[in-house]
Amino acid sequence: MNESALRSADIVVTGATVLPFDDDWSVLEDCDVVICEDKIVECGSDVARGWSSSLVIDGRDLLLTPGLCNGHTHSPETLARGRADCSTLIGWLESVWSEMDQLDDESVRLGILLGAAEMLHGGVTSVVDHFRQTPMLRPSVDAAASAWLETGMRATLALMVRDRQLPTWVSNMTSCKEQIDLLQQCTNCWHGSEGRLHVSVGPSAPTRCTDNLLRTAGTLCADNGIGLHMHVDETRDEVELAHTLYGASTIQHLGVLGLLGPHLSLAHCVWCSDHDLDLLASSGTAVVHNPVSNMRLGSGRAPIERMRKRGIDVAIGTDGAASNDSQSVLEAIKFAALMPRLVVDNPGDWITATDSLSMATVDAGRIFAMSEGRLAPGCRADIAAFELASLPFVPANDLHCQLAFGGATLRARHVIIAGRMILRDHAVQTFNETDVVAKACRKR
Ligand SMILES: [Zn+2]
Repeated sequence: MNESALRSADIVVTGATVLPFDDDWSVLEDCDVVICEDKIVECGSDVARGWSSSLVIDGRDLLLTPGLCNGHTHSPETLARGRADCSTLIGWLESVWSEMDQLDDESVRLGILLGAAEMLHGGVTSVVDHFRQTPMLRPSVDAAASAWLETGMRATLALMVRDRQLPTWVSNMTSCKEQIDLLQQCTNCWHGSEGRLHVSVGPSAPTRCTDNLLRTAGTLCADNGIGLHMHVDETRDEVELAHTLYGASTIQHLGVLGLLGPHLSLAHCVWCSDHDLDLLASSGTAVVHNPVSNMRLGSGRAPIERMRKRGIDVAIGTDGAASNDSQSVLEAIKFAALMPRLVVDNPGDWITATDSLSMATVDAGRIFAMSEGRLAPGCRADIAAFELASLPFVPANDLHCQLAFGGATLRARHVIIAGRMILRDHAVQTFNETDVVAKACRKR
């Protein structure tokens, strides 16, 4: 074909093995992928012929998948890994957050870049950062928002608020009104930035907020068309506290407040009753499952097989690095699929490898609307490229199963986000990882 007849693309990948995460869980071999601006425009055999690009990647030794979503983390905790082993939530919170709650702006940035580097190497392209500083102040939010934009990743910054059960080490808490005003200002300033940054409202947990704060936060979300994200029923103690405070379960109480719905995502939901799950299903409320953190803190096991059976959308999160102690979504995918097998007798009711992959991609896409979680024409160009010669893929008997269950040690060679190469040949392109690591080493 003559040069002038070729259309111009930003990135072309040729001859790759592609897992598009379509409804049939296909494996496409010798497949070309064409990217224009931030979208995938073609995906199939020989489609690269009609395109020219200054960036052509030979994909013959690559496995391309949709980028993964980390549906729940707390970025400051990347500076507090390894702390407080053998602690349950309350003791752990004190050990970690008494130091992490009021970081200087440079430490906020450092925590985000460090976590982003780990996630990018693991094929993660979007993240929900349930960002905590107590009290939440504008300079910290600005530092966090700027840092997420700097990474090149897609991020939802769920700003944590609370006005009850305050930590003993916090003496300068802001009022409910000040917190709501700050949320509105930060939404105005940062929501939608570069098409990659979302702001949402992140009450710490219903039991750590007054009903007034929860209601006002819900109204702010509705008025601005932004999401609501919070911890719910992570431990048995929280369930008991909810019954004492409300005479009902946490989820029933969220229903009374009018807060359930598709805009709401709840991290954990370990101790929900069947009636609670029915309320989540009928309202379209989503759950974010954090299996590694739940095991690390001995919190319990979320019944995700029962959630999915009811049609509840479930995403997967790592939770913060101090309760994990990694930011590996592929590791969380593995545990999400395997944990139910310890207690559910019938293999027909187990979570499959592809169920688990779907939770961290397609299902997360429906919940957070950052990306589609699929690799197909018309979808946002958020792609992880792994090496087919990586040992977990050899021999390639079932690539989906090997990715889900053997993937925790994989390192992506390339990561494309919104049509930009953010990781190239294992190197982060958007910030100096070596410098970030050196600075973080001094934070011990
Ligand atoms: Zn959390």
